[in-house]
Amino acid sequence: MRLLLVEDDTSLAAGLSLALRNKGFAVNHVARGDHALLAVQTDPPDLIILDLGLPDMDGLDVLRQLRNTNRTIPVLILTARDTTSEKIAGLDLGADDYLAKPFDIDELDARLRAMSRRLGSATGSILTAGDLSLNLATRELTKGDQPVDLSRREYALLRALMENRGKVLTREALEGKLYAWGEEVASNALEVHIHHLRRKLSADVIKTVRGIGYSLRLP
Ligand code: CA
Repeated sequence: MRLLLVEDDTSLAAGLSLALRNKGFAVNHVARGDHALLAVQTDPPDLIILDLGLPDMDGLDVLRQLRNTNRTIPVLILTARDTTSEKIAGLDLGADDYLAKPFDIDELDARLRAMSRRLGSATGSILTAGDLSLNLATRELTKGDQPVDLSRREYALLRALMENRGKVLTREALEGKLYAWGEEVASNALEVHIHHLRRKLSADVIKTVRGIGYSLRLP
């Protein structure tokens, strides 16, 4: 799940980014409203966390402009201003949820999961292929009726392959799903994750297309 964090408080942003990466999100952080709008235009995330008190523009204006062009990306607003009128204004402008600072990271994670679940239930949040069933809301995989533990990279990889069943995904496309913006990628990292997935699922689940990439072999 790719998440755009819009927050100008650098220490809060650093702590949040780390905590959210540990929860399995690929986090892109910007500190200004105009940078947020640009990021959404050039590379839309799956979810946005938006602080309302930004240095260059009001977070509510960011939200207003965002909703003029993109109605669907779920937005959770963060506010230090604990006033009801601001929350209502945010929700009226199309925010999906809000959290008042200070907040607990587990609560934030729960809210984000609920938001992605709502998004998922609108689009079908369970992917199936062969005897695999991948729940996008809880990130749980079952093979037959057995649960299979996946690392967050393995999850992202399998999800991409399942979402694109019948197609060959290039290395570049898969690496784009695995890593956040600007993150350093070791040259054999993708092969290592593919190897682990094959070991957990079975060797013939993922097909190597030489010189191009990978595809899911399951019906
Ligand atoms: Ca702020």
